Amino acid sequence: MISFDGVNKWYGAYHALAEVSAEVAKGEVVVICGPSGSGKSTLIRTVNRLEEIQKGRIVFDGQDIHAPKLDLNHFRSRVGFVFQSFNLFPHLSVAENIMMAPINVLRKKRSDARVRALELLERVGLASKAEAFPGQLSGGQQQRVAIARALAMDPPAMLFDEPTSALDPEMVGEVLQVMKELAREGMTMMCVTHEMNFAREVADRVWFMDHGKLVETGTPEQFFSHPQSERARKFLAELR
Ligand code: ATP
Ligand code: MG
Repeated sequence: MISFDGVNKWYGAYHALAEVSAEVAKGEVVVICGPSGSGKSTLIRTVNRLEEIQKGRIVFDGQDIHAPKLDLNHFRSRVGFVFQSFNLFPHLSVAENIMMAPINVLRKKRSDARVRALELLERVGLASKAEAFPGQLSGGQQQRVAIARALAMDPPAMLFDEPTSALDPEMVGEVLQVMKELAREGMTMMCVTHEMNFAREVADRVWFMDHGKLVETGTPEQFFSHPQSERARKFLAELR
């Protein structure tokens, strides 16, 4: 579903991604972990070309993302991306936030877009908030709306970059719960998160990065119980 083949990125002279090759299979949940500055966000952001790479190839849902004819705006809108900050439009209702891209990009009828928005709100546990404005919601609720907004584009995969890091602790669980349900329904997911319990419970594979390299990959059991590299052992020891 998503493949990285010899991916390299430099910020000036700084080698931020070094020869990353790996694959996320359809329906697989990958949790990316590693120390701060190891390249996790950079890697995930290359997938929708928020970061350009200088060498290598990335294929998303059969699409070479550097194909010359790629319509970048359309492509981006189909990659479900959820960040730390939710960036909802404050002057639009929750339902309108979710309906916007399906209407503008997919040219859906307003009525159809609304039906789908209400379904998605139900799914993230916010059916009663359709007419509320983002400013009237808690951080956890806003992040769940951001997930619903991404899902409204029927993305082939969802990418998450620390979706719970900006939230008050009591709101982390409700967002992770929505992510867990998505995983259970078979969504292909790449998640950067420091929530190691989520990784243990939900991930099919853990990818461990350090200094721009994908140092090791394995099942949660392999990674947490039998890390292969010294760097991973050190990372795990520091979590405890
Ligand atoms: P964190 O856990 O702190 O979010 P990360 O693993 O997501 O870290 P990245 O944000 O991918 O790390 O950054 C990887 C490296 O690239 C870091 O050393 C960072 O300083 C550097 N970097 C990131 N963005 C830029 C940029 N726009 N220009 C120059 N260097 C950058
Ligand atoms: Mg990051």
